[in-house]
Amino acid sequence: MIEALKKERLIYLDNNATTPLDPQVADKMCWFLKEHFGNPSSVYPIGRAVREMISQARENVAKALGAQRSEIFFTASGTEADNWALRGVLDSQPDKREIITSTIEHPAVLNQAKYLEKKGIKVSYVPVDSLGIIDLEFLRAAITPQTALISIMHANNEIGTVQPIETVVSIARDHGVPVHSDAVQSFGKMDFDVQKLGVDFLSVSGHKIYGPKGVGALYIRKGIDICPFIYGGGQERGFRAGTENTIGIVGFGEAAGILMQRGKKDRERIEKLAGSLRKGIEEKIPKVKFNGHPEKRVKNTLNAAFPGLEGEAILLALATKGISVSTGSACSSESEEVSPVLLAIGLRPEIARSCLRMSLGRFNTEEDIQEVIRELPGIIAKLRQISAFDPDA
Ligand code: PLP
Repeated sequence: MIEALKKERLIYLDNNATTPLDPQVADKMCWFLKEHFGNPSSVYPIGRAVREMISQARENVAKALGAQRSEIFFTASGTEADNWALRGVLDSQPDKREIITSTIEHPAVLNQAKYLEKKGIKVSYVPVDSLGIIDLEFLRAAITPQTALISIMHANNEIGTVQPIETVVSIARDHGVPVHSDAVQSFGKMDFDVQKLGVDFLSVSGHKIYGPKGVGALYIRKGIDICPFIYGGGQERGFRAGTENTIGIVGFGEAAGILMQRGKKDRERIEKLAGSLRKGIEEKIPKVKFNGHPEKRVKNTLNAAFPGLEGEAILLALATKGISVSTGSACSSESEEVSPVLLAIGLRPEIARSCLRMSLGRFNTEEDIQEVIRELPGIIAKLRQISAFDPDA
């Protein structure tokens, strides 16, 4: 049991926003913090010891992704990995001035794409269908000799839909275009590896796999061209300078190691829990509609519309019961804006505003789920009464 959750008696169903630090990761990081202050670039033993631990962390992240150690580059976040992929690939091909991405990417990709547009890059946004799957014909037609990169996310953070990345790669290969995928939300939540996906670049983040915040990684396939992201000392083989976030990297590596040991079992258990939660909600609450693809999805993520209500009101009512959920991406949850992802799958704004995301994780229990199934129907009924919504109408 995670101490922070136990103390507050919290039920945490927002694992797509961030995951609790695994206690084993916390122990490793505390030990490291106390015992190892060396700069990994120093050649004497206290530096070399840290360099060795970074190397082990890189090995773990690489193995968990099916990559080689030399293909993993640590970054400050998943966001940085995404920014680097887009900008670095464009910089490495100055004769190509176009990229292709989708309408439902995380802001880490979308806002970088908007910035690039201001710099004169043409960006094509591939639309999605009502289940959140990209339009492959649109993608095919958008490729031109000017296309430098295709960036399509693996699993969506809000609705959980998983994109057919292998097909994207095969389309891209026909035109010699490299592919990047933001796998921040699929890493640890489903079984995949970079070889099977066939991608050239892939972003992941530590805090979505029960590791620390402020550390991520970009997988860069051996032999593919990309420009460095930060210039300075020669860290990360000259591609991402700056003295390493040693504690974060060691924690990320530990979290990736744990993922390899227990990831499959966790996923099976989480899938069952999410299944019971969905069933309980469907049985007890009228007029609920779940968003995203029914099968091609990360199974921990449930996104449901509660017509007639504001998702925000449900979220706040649940919070008073110690249940943490979200209305969408954590990065945009402070803004009033309706989720662009939910609009992109064709929901009307008032339905999009009625949606709630519940994302399960390693530390959720059957009791958590039963508690939510007990509390949520009463909350919905009460709020609908206040808003004079008639579920039978
Ligand atoms: N990409 C996706 C799909 C995400 O869900 C997130 C975080 O929510 C990110 C990128 C950003 O990762 P980080 O929080 O490490 O910057």
